[in-house]
Amino acid sequence: MEKKEFRAESKRLLDLMVNSIYTHKEIFLRELISNASDAIDKIYYKALTDENIIFNKDDYYIRIVADKDNRTLTISDTGIGMSKEELEDNLGIIANSGSFAFKKENELRDGFDIIGQFGVGFYSAFMVSETVTVISKGFGSDEAYKWESNGADGYTIEPCKKDNIGTDIILKIKQNSEDEKYDEFLEEYRLRGIIKKYSDFIRYPIKMDITKSKLKEGSEDEYEEYLEEEVLNSMVPIWRKNRNELTKEDYENFYLEKHFGFDKPVKSIHLSVDGVVRYNAILFIPSKTPYDFYTKEYEKGLELYSNGVLIMNKCPDLLPDYFSFVKGVVDSEDLSLNISREILQHDRQLKLMAKKIGDKIKDELSLLLKNERETYEEFYENFGRQLKYGIYSDFGMNKETLQDLLMFYSSKEKKMVTLEEYISRMPEEQKYIYYASGESIERIDRLPQAELVKDKGYEILYFTDEIDEFAIKMLMNYKEKEFKSISSGDLGIETDEKDEEINSEIEENKDLFKLMKEILSDKVKDIKPSKRLKKHPVCLTSEGELSIEMEKILNTMPN
Ligand code: ADP
Ligand code: MG
Repeated sequence: MEKKEFRAESKRLLDLMVNSIYTHKEIFLRELISNASDAIDKIYYKALTDENIIFNKDDYYIRIVADKDNRTLTISDTGIGMSKEELEDNLGIIANSGSFAFKKENELRDGFDIIGQFGVGFYSAFMVSETVTVISKGFGSDEAYKWESNGADGYTIEPCKKDNIGTDIILKIKQNSEDEKYDEFLEEYRLRGIIKKYSDFIRYPIKMDITKSKLKEGSEDEYEEYLEEEVLNSMVPIWRKNRNELTKEDYENFYLEKHFGFDKPVKSIHLSVDGVVRYNAILFIPSKTPYDFYTKEYEKGLELYSNGVLIMNKCPDLLPDYFSFVKGVVDSEDLSLNISREILQHDRQLKLMAKKIGDKIKDELSLLLKNERETYEEFYENFGRQLKYGIYSDFGMNKETLQDLLMFYSSKEKKMVTLEEYISRMPEEQKYIYYASGESIERIDRLPQAELVKDKGYEILYFTDEIDEFAIKMLMNYKEKEFKSISSGDLGIETDEKDEEINSEIEENKDLFKLMKEILSDKVKDIKPSKRLKKHPVCLTSEGELSIEMEKILNTMPN
């Protein structure tokens, strides 16, 4: 039997790849910078294992040069470079990753976070380039080579001159067409933006000459432009730093820098997890509600990095809905990415991370409630509804997580209290946790139904938020105490009056009740003498599952 190799139409394959893997053209820069960083990592690794090589940190950097006149963008690095063979193998064979092989060969352990693995990132350069020229001099060789391709008809390779070891990638940027714009990839501000977004935490400096202007010498109003080299990336991600070295301000600055909000976070949470999935995370609880928080437009999620390279702007799977207000970043070296590095391959790692993150947020909120009551109350004012919504929408599944974070206004304390506080004050004979629903505290205060409960010395929780009663219905009980609306028919409170007295009242006022019922025929179900009224002459109660307030809300909802 003859065995044949698969053949691929490489031109088409390249086209397919380049134009269908990536959703954003701008990521070509992320890919090329990641490659440059990998190349420097490799020489660094070599230096660690070979004492003949001296690694002087200042000699290693990545440089970006945009030349508008010639429409070229050059990405240079002082990394390990490529020999002629390596140029052919790594750039001539699609899906061949020299970096992946390097990792395997050297059995790289922790700390060596080489990014490359799929052997396709390089070709993303063709999304924005007519031609790509690679000039490289490999470590240990005297000759430099030039590799060149237009992405369709293969490539050429020839010797050339280059002084230092390392690689220059020169992109001839495409011309703008009617529906595709490429000029932006030659603009300083745009390049800076892309680098900040995706490559801010690349560990080597990414340098670029930035145009500045200053007053001309001897002139008072004439300016001249000049170039000044800047390092565009911050290099060490704050989450990789030691918690003890960081101040509250460091976290707050990071929060601002990331545009998580204009406020100061109530709480910064720094996590370093070394378990099955290793990751670092910094999470923030904002102090102000984002303007769009309670709208459909709001998108929850954390920024997700793989080895310091941004993979996803908002990864929703890392946060439960009830903590959707949390902002932050997660960086892991253990993520299985798909080829475009835009989506994740497996969600098992994500699930593990999400679980831990959720638990941590809960713990921090509990601590806040315990130790900084006022701050917690402010937090609750902003995001309490989301917690209650969490209980409601998951049918009480998150009861354990959320119930102790809830707060309601108390008739007794005249302030917000927790359920735990409520039951700790309950007289022994009190069977239920009483609540009253209404539009406002003042309105509930005046409810005639509240009298008897208050007279008994029982505390009432005021539900002024529409979601309150719905959430409580899902909770059903708290520490085995059931919730009871003060407007429900049976309050579970014994009164001094005898049933006989009531019965005789019914007898005596038969005609009055009959008349009242006739007049209110379609408005009420029944009219009865009540045991619960004190000062007020009448009150409304409901018998079914729903309180009157809840029914009102349901009636206003569109079907
Ligand atoms: P990956 O980074 O996933 O390996 P790429 O397509 O981005 O795939 O790159 C292919 C290979 O080309 C890399 O694995 C590496 O061996 C080589 N390479 C790319 N850019 C450089 C560079 N700047 N310096 C040295 N080698 C490079
Ligand atoms: Mg790569």
